[in-house]
Amino acid sequence: MSDADSIPGRLNLRLKTEQPTGLKKLRGIGPKTARRLHDRGITDQLDLLLYVPRKYRLAYRHVPGPKVVADRADWVQTAGRVTEVMPKRGRRPFELRVDVDGATFKLLWFNLPFRGFDRRFTSESIILFKGTVDYDRAVPTLSHPNTKIVDQRPDLRPQMALEPVYGGIDKVGDSIIASAVEQAFERLASELVEGVPASLLADHELPTINEALATIHVLDDVGDLKELKKRLTIARQRLIYQEFFDLQQALTQRYITERRAACAPQCKEREMGRELVRNLPFSLTGDQKAAIATIAEELGSQVPMRRLLQGDVGSGKTVVAMMAAAIAVANGVQVAMMAPTEILAAQHLRRVQQYFSDLNTPVTRLSGSQTTAERQEALEALRSGKVSLVVGTHALFQEGVEFADLGLIIVDEEHKFGVDQRQSLLALGKDPHLLSMTATPIPRSLAHAVFGDRDLTVIREKPPGRKPIRTVLRRRAASRKLYAYIADRLESTGEQAYVVYPLVEASEAVADRRNVVDGAAELANGALRGLRVGVLHGQMPGEAKSAVMKRFAAGEIDVLCSTTVIEVGVDVPNATVMIVEDAELFGLSQLHQLRGRVGRSSTESMCVLLTGYGLTDDARQRLRAMAATDDGFDLAETDLRIRGPGEFLGIKQAGLPEFRFGDILRDGQWLKTARRDARRLLLGDASR
Ligand code: ADP
Ligand code: MG
Repeated sequence: MSDADSIPGRLNLRLKTEQPTGLKKLRGIGPKTARRLHDRGITDQLDLLLYVPRKYRLAYRHVPGPKVVADRADWVQTAGRVTEVMPKRGRRPFELRVDVDGATFKLLWFNLPFRGFDRRFTSESIILFKGTVDYDRAVPTLSHPNTKIVDQRPDLRPQMALEPVYGGIDKVGDSIIASAVEQAFERLASELVEGVPASLLADHELPTINEALATIHVLDDVGDLKELKKRLTIARQRLIYQEFFDLQQALTQRYITERRAACAPQCKEREMGRELVRNLPFSLTGDQKAAIATIAEELGSQVPMRRLLQGDVGSGKTVVAMMAAAIAVANGVQVAMMAPTEILAAQHLRRVQQYFSDLNTPVTRLSGSQTTAERQEALEALRSGKVSLVVGTHALFQEGVEFADLGLIIVDEEHKFGVDQRQSLLALGKDPHLLSMTATPIPRSLAHAVFGDRDLTVIREKPPGRKPIRTVLRRRAASRKLYAYIADRLESTGEQAYVVYPLVEASEAVADRRNVVDGAAELANGALRGLRVGVLHGQMPGEAKSAVMKRFAAGEIDVLCSTTVIEVGVDVPNATVMIVEDAELFGLSQLHQLRGRVGRSSTESMCVLLTGYGLTDDARQRLRAMAATDDGFDLAETDLRIRGPGEFLGIKQAGLPEFRFGDILRDGQWLKTARRDARRLLLGDASR
């Protein structure tokens, strides 16, 4: 990846001028230790400075010797006069006896830190030393302490302090790390680039990078323990903020670069879009209109659009995307619509065909399941420009795909594509416009981390007349009564229902889970006898699947027993009942998506989540959240809290930076602040 493409996740320090930063330059770090640090990802002195202590422990500093002895302190930093130097002989360690205010301390080295180390000391040397203390028959003894020879005993103010505990590196003790950190800081502090503008530091009352590092490694004397603790907190916040700020700057920079000097097709003709709207059987909501207005405006400009459209399930994002497509097509450029799975792509294709057949616009598709002949035909149509609209999966980035003039890319679930795939996507056209969508809302903090280089449009308003979906939790044991009620309801109203199962067929490995094949047969011959029960799952051949879907949509099937293949996008307004079997096995956004299949008409819909006994805490939280709200934005926040960012996005690290210090959940506020600051700094505008 080139520099412009690489987006930082982890915070890194930079130097003003080139400096040797090798670890082996530091006293006390030999090849072996350097290798051990390397294994922990510490490759140079700058990494070392960012290796922050795991915790701190209370330490005695400059406290009179006798008090140290009396309190049996387990860590000291003090100074004294060497009274005896005992050379290393055989297995006997090199030893110093040091007098501190009348108490004798023993300092031991079983291995010398470096050749000639022992020759630096004479009796009468004044030394500063610090380290962990053991007691050898009441004599305080330090093994391999840190030492420094000084001219005279400094004026030591007694102090209780915090001492960093690094840990975490096999066979490299804290004193080695502390000493290396101290040396690295001494050498590099004046060379460190301050990554955050002073005005922003002042705004947020954060310390400079040097102050922050000195605090974190406790390199400065801070008189007051309380004061030190306070400083530690804000020093850490500063690192978190900078990490997010670096990310946001890079994302904003990419946003700027992608737009600068770019010549996107100016799509000013909007009549076809208007016609599309006139053909709709409903009128647009305010949020839809606003989203379309923004997008139409951007499509009309030569600065390429980079927009993420977010909205809850059923909020009507598809129409907005279709409108964008219609405007692009009317202006003579091609549109590629892309989805991460075959099922989603197939659904989009149906929608596109439905919307565009009235507009006399041919549509084609590209997917992995096509025959070679179909594929060749589609490729030729795109290359020649005969076809303006293509819907597809990853197959769209494969070799041989060429467009005559690709002007707009619409991507559903963009985060499910890999990071470099995003770039190849844009390379399909010359400065194309890009509209991304998500199937369920992504919490704002996470959206900012992953889509920081996008402008955001959120559709909050639902189409009018939608009733809230009544959601209830029921034990599986009570399902007989439930299904009897459902049979009555469907028979008397002619409404339809979904029943979702976790498995396709019986599996010995998970014998207690329900499966769609047996479940459907059981219902058809039992509780739902007399109703037309259909089966749908991912292992059925494509034509069989679409045949079943067609019959359900036409009302020829009353109850559709299915796996989660119906999760996304399926739209049958007459279906008003959703039953999820073994609901505890499904994720929150999955349940929300499933529930979104009903509640699509003015009739009140219901969703029943059937569970067994012995739910895990997470499962209980998910189900309670489902029953408590049907606001997808609220649920997304809950889901993010339960699962964490990587799992939430469905694919680990799909564009989600791995942070060294920041935590999107815990530090969401800082992320938001960093985005605002970066946008204000680089774009002069934080409102987008
Ligand atoms: P999603 O945002 O989940 O993709 P869809 O675009 O699938 O939602 O829309 C859900 C359903 O709502 C579809 O049947 C669609 O035709 C319908 N719809 C969209 N906008 C409106 C509206 N303004 N008024 C009434 N129905 C609408
Ligand atoms: Mg949709």
